[in-house]
Amino acid sequence: MPRNNRPRRRGSVGHSEPDDLSRLMTGWRRTETRRGREWNVQPVSSAAAVKEYTCPGCGGLITPGVAHVVVWRADGVLGDAADLDARRHWHSGCWRIA
Ligand SMILES: [Zn+2]
Repeated sequence: MPRNNRPRRRGSVGHSEPDDLSRLMTGWRRTETRRGREWNVQPVSSAAAVKEYTCPGCGGLITPGVAHVVVWRADGVLGDAADLDARRHWHSGCWRIA
């Protein structure tokens, strides 16, 4: 029984602050390997840091105006959109010693 009357929907994941993202993406980005995994590391300048985040490294707050890094997986297991959704903001120093 064919069920071809339902259009396949792909990429219904993306609901993730395009303004925020494009601002984050303006700088350079590097790839680092941690614990056997590849990570994208995107520095965020103090001017671009306009929200509060919780740093997973120390559990402390990253306050607006503090330059830091955004980190997400680069090995593409979940796909770019999902990986980006799962991105975390780290203090630069916390990431360096993570
Ligand atoms: Zn931290």
